[in-house]
Amino acid sequence: MKLVVDRDLCEANGVCVRLAPEAFELDDDDVLHLRVVTPTDDAHRARLEAAIRGCPKAALSWEES
Ligand code: SF4
Repeated sequence: MKLVVDRDLCEANGVCVRLAPEAFELDDDDVLHLRVVTPTDDAHRARLEAAIRGCPKAALSWEES
């Protein structure tokens, strides 16, 4: 499983960056970059899932890798 972002939905509001700053980064042009796409352990998976649930645009999801 890997984390993916639907760029048509993402509005670069930074909610996921605040929830999991190790995994997400907004650049100076407000483009979201995924720095980490696979969880390192169960606790990290929970953080990424919180970011998925917290995205107000439902732009984040898991994808089969
Ligand atoms: S929380 Fe969702 S809409 Fe906001 S920057 Fe992250 S992916 Fe984009």
